Amino acid sequence: MPTDKQKLGVLGENLVSKNLVCQKCKKKRTLKKLPINFKCADLICDFCGFLAQVKSSNVKDINKLPNSILGAAWGPQEERMNAGIYFPLYLVLVNEKKYSVFYLSADLQSKDIFKARKPLSSSAKRAGWQGFMYDISKIKNHFVRLK
Ligand SMILES: [Zn+2]
Repeated sequence: MPTDKQKLGVLGENLVSKNLVCQKCKKKRTLKKLPINFKCADLICDFCGFLAQVKSSNVKDINKLPNSILGAAWGPQEERMNAGIYFPLYLVLVNEKKYSVFYLSADLQSKDIFKARKPLSSSAKRAGWQGFMYDISKIKNHFVRLK
């Protein structure tokens, strides 16, 4: 059974792939979901090869960007940043049946928005696993609202 968090993630990916154009080639309905275990990105455009990540968040007000968003695993993220690699990000804000979509291009991202979290405690299911948060409090004006 998927968790609520996984369901929210799938919802966000579906909303973006079904309703939004590719940010590179501007074609409709070309964004396809990558397999769940695919590490660096969630969507690929099957026309131009554009790759993007999608993050979804439950919020009170879909018109207001939150200060932080839950990211993914810190290790691979840190490695990519050290290599200068960033991926475009679609941020889906959900409030019951309403949603909005914001977009942050790769060239507007830098190391300082990715904050490592404490590794999970030894009693956790995935003990030692370390995640990160996106701290977007200072770069909200870099986002473009798409929907
Ligand atoms: Zn495309």
